[in-house]
Amino acid sequence: SNEKIRKLSITDPLTGCYNRNYLSRQLAKEITRTQRYQTPISLVLTDIDFFKKVNDTFGHSAGDTVLVEFVNTIHRVIRKDLDWVTRYGGEEFVIVLPETAYDQACQCTERLRKKIADTPVTHDEVPISITASFGVTCLDPALITDDFSTDRLIDTADHFLYQAKENGRNRVEGSPFKPA
Ligand code: GH3
Ligand code: MG
Ligand code: MG
Repeated sequence: SNEKIRKLSITDPLTGCYNRNYLSRQLAKEITRTQRYQTPISLVLTDIDFFKKVNDTFGHSAGDTVLVEFVNTIHRVIRKDLDWVTRYGGEEFVIVLPETAYDQACQCTERLRKKIADTPVTHDEVPISITASFGVTCLDPALITDDFSTDRLIDTADHFLYQAKENGRNRVEGSPFKPA
């Protein structure tokens, strides 16, 4: 049916979360809502640490299992009715937290970081421990200017993700979004 086709077009086949197609469209809609209701929206970019090593050590299919379980864990931590996850690249995901202030977003992300680090993934009865790094930002709708774009919000989260990697990985770094 049409609904099935639409769903497939916005879904990542491996993990079942949204794909990058969905991100740009839906994020723009969320930001319009944010402006209408004057609520903050937070965005988290996360990337699994040393994922190449997981593939090299345990095999590509173990790597796939890690990706599936990573997304399952994210879904267990975020709010079912509001928050959503998109696969942004290979082992990189965007988590959108509507109606969420910066401090709340950091608390949620820290809980997620800990849960990922504390919960080994099992593949063919072999436990695989992973960690991930996180970049957090939050948009205050009062700060939206004419030159605002959703890409700038993602770029900000990406900057802090890079900082989390630089500062030793298995970390959360971030800051509220500031207009240029
Ligand atoms: P860092 O901590 O700096 O992020 O290091 P990393 O090893 O995680 O990063 P790098 O970019 O070097 O490696 C990413 C790896 O992710 C390489 C690629 O083969 C793997 N990958 C991407 N998509 C998939 C996938 O769908 N399945 C599996 N098993 N591996 C994937
Ligand atoms: Mg990585
Ligand atoms: Mg990566």
